[in-house]
Amino acid sequence: MLEQYVALRDEHPDFILLFQCGDFYETFGEDAERLSRLLGIALTHKSSKDFSTPMAGVPIRTLDSNVERLLAAGVRVAVADQIEEPGSGLVDRKVTQLLTPGTVTEERHLTADENYLGAVATGDGYALALLDLSTGEFRCAAFHTRTALYDELARHRAREVLLAPELSGNAALLADFQTRFPVMLSPANFGEDAARDELRTVLGEVPGSLGSAALVRACGAVLGYAREVLQGRLEMVRRVVRYEPGAHMRLTDAAARALEIFHAQSPQGVTLTEVLAETRTAGGRRRLRAWLRAPLLDELSIRSRLDAVEALTRAPDLRGGVRALLYRAHDLERLSARVATRRATPREVASLARTLELLPEATRLLTEQDGLLGSLQARLGGLPDVVTLIRAALVDDPPIRAGEGGLIRDGFHAELDGLRSEALGHRAWLAELETTERVRTGIGSLKVGFNNVFGYYLEVSSANLGKVPADYRQIATLKDRARFTRPDLRDREREIARLEAAAGRLELEVFTGLRDGLATHAEALAEAAGALADLDVLAALAEIAVECGWVRPQTSGGAARLTQARHPVVERATGGRFVPNDAELGGTRHTLLLTGPNMAGKSTYLRTVALCALLHQVGSFVPADHAELPVYDAIHTRIGASDDLAGGRSTFMVEMSELATILHGATHRSLVILDEVGRGTSTLDGLAIAQSALEHLHATGAHTLFATHYFELTRLEADLPGLVNLHVAAEEDEGSGLTFYHQVIPGAARQSYGVEVARLAGLPAPVTARAARLLTALNSGGDDRKLTRELAALDLGRLTPMAALELLHRWQRDVKGSSNG
Ligand code: ADP
Repeated sequence: MLEQYVALRDEHPDFILLFQCGDFYETFGEDAERLSRLLGIALTHKSSKDFSTPMAGVPIRTLDSNVERLLAAGVRVAVADQIEEPGSGLVDRKVTQLLTPGTVTEERHLTADENYLGAVATGDGYALALLDLSTGEFRCAAFHTRTALYDELARHRAREVLLAPELSGNAALLADFQTRFPVMLSPANFGEDAARDELRTVLGEVPGSLGSAALVRACGAVLGYAREVLQGRLEMVRRVVRYEPGAHMRLTDAAARALEIFHAQSPQGVTLTEVLAETRTAGGRRRLRAWLRAPLLDELSIRSRLDAVEALTRAPDLRGGVRALLYRAHDLERLSARVATRRATPREVASLARTLELLPEATRLLTEQDGLLGSLQARLGGLPDVVTLIRAALVDDPPIRAGEGGLIRDGFHAELDGLRSEALGHRAWLAELETTERVRTGIGSLKVGFNNVFGYYLEVSSANLGKVPADYRQIATLKDRARFTRPDLRDREREIARLEAAAGRLELEVFTGLRDGLATHAEALAEAAGALADLDVLAALAEIAVECGWVRPQTSGGAARLTQARHPVVERATGGRFVPNDAELGGTRHTLLLTGPNMAGKSTYLRTVALCALLHQVGSFVPADHAELPVYDAIHTRIGASDDLAGGRSTFMVEMSELATILHGATHRSLVILDEVGRGTSTLDGLAIAQSALEHLHATGAHTLFATHYFELTRLEADLPGLVNLHVAAEEDEGSGLTFYHQVIPGAARQSYGVEVARLAGLPAPVTARAARLLTALNSGGDDRKLTRELAALDLGRLTPMAALELLHRWQRDVKGSSNG
């Protein structure tokens, strides 16, 4: 048996092989150790007289849940089942299923989100292919830098990534990939010729749009791998779309994290996606995330989304109607993919019908609409009437699996009806048998029974045995009764079995025919599914806009102006107590330097501006009373100090490498948000870096919001035109300490209040008192520096003796003043 195990395992070297042994799936050797670790199950040993190996297994009935856990851990699973009844010898086994994180398509293994399988090859830059087999979405793009590639992969949360040999051969690069993504090596064939063959097999051609060999290889590799794992064709994949990463706003992974678009930074945190999650369907939810991942750059597209959202905000009946409808929709994208691959179960086909039934109502609701909503109407209405077909053929609540009968409606198929009614006739005869036989034999207590050994039988008590007619044949004798059969009873029974089996086969045939018929509409189904997802997102954005009092942003040529802007997430958390703020960026004030005590609301203000900019380019209303925003080519952020412990980099290193990306990437059309740059190192280092970074950004002309605790930077206002000081209002008051107003106002903050905040946070009084004294001493050190600076700047050649004396006088006064204070 172990030889058989090893042989099967070696056919799938990159998989954990689950090997059926009766009621368990077992693993042996290293795989057993791995399985026990991954699932937290006991490790035992399989021993014979001269050998022993580790063994770990899971009961057959828990296969699904365990597979799910393994897939989530990024493990590939091969399932080997016994394919014959156990007898005396070795049972034959075969691998019946291969399951990998990026290729599963069964609903029970999928989350509601996208399920991307990625492949990366290099050539001229990096080529990335992304395939979601659950919906058939297939896209690819080329990237110039590895960072851009990483950002894209991270945003898509690829569940499985295949690397071309030229990448996996490079140990450093491979390690880098592996710390970030669930990388899978080896099985995919990245050869260019093989890739072209794959593309031809699946799509019928090698699309010209792919252009580079690297893109062809990446696309071919995902297809080849998916086909091999699924052991079949990929009908759900109809086309590959090459997209231009540059066609969308650049949103680095760091920015997406800092702005908490998809992931919260703390466990109890709320994300932007969650605030926007008014979508009603799984497809809409995925589409919303896709829109957030790829904000638009094209003004017309932004406007057409905004027009649609606005139309929906203005028409509550339309919005309510659409949302009520969507609430009843099933996951049409996934159902279409299931239909395309001819894998849909009867229940899935019924769900498809229920969802398609909603479409006429949806198109009716959208009748009066033009623009994007009008085009959605057309896309929703392009489907031939398949509902009638499904409804006519399928019963209302079909069983989960085909092959169990009870699928096809009476009256749909004459031959099937014939078989069924014949079988029913026999069953009716059986049902009557007890009564007819009681009458015929005069035995009032005669019973008709059934068991698995004899099938139907007639049962007579011992007292009545004398009355048993001659055509009864005794088959069993019990203590006080006997059981009989009759030849015609057997015949009837066999006939029923034959008829029902034939009906079952025919039902399956009819169902398969129905499914094949549906598959021919896969294209139109996918189109309608896409339109429904778009509609869902637009209606959700409109709903939020109305519920939260958001405003339609105007796209401006250059400046950003926000009136009474709010942070959508913090506003929700603070209830009615959020303090809105204005923001103006551009022209003579493209760089805003924000100072103020900790906890005053600096980060919140920065993020508010960034989120409004993002929402505008997604096509959403924004949380403000009035908004004008330019189209930014990128939002860059560097916020907060986070350790990349897994990546082995210190806080400061992470901070600096993120800063490097920003300084290299920011243009005069970018929005840059920097919060507390330089915090991770000594004060002077930090200050120096913060200032030089600020000067660099200032020179690019990017819209920059720079929050800092370095008050020294505020004097840059005098030197850098376009840099404006702002601060967040706070008041120190003898009795109650600090009061925060969260109000952003012009000018630099007076002081940092750091010691005050420490006091608020409950540091012991002697500690804060000592800190206050130290601060004074350090500030006079600052005076020394100021003195040195002024001295160095003096032009002695031009200094008159009188002026020199005045200077000396002032310096002495300053130094005395600060040491007394
Ligand atoms: P800072 O960056 O200045 O340290 P934060 O922006 O992190 O301050 O804000 C600290 C806390 O103050 C936030 O968690 C939030 O609860 C509250 N806060 C910030 N801005 C506002 C605001 N405009 N209105 C109400 N509360 C706010």
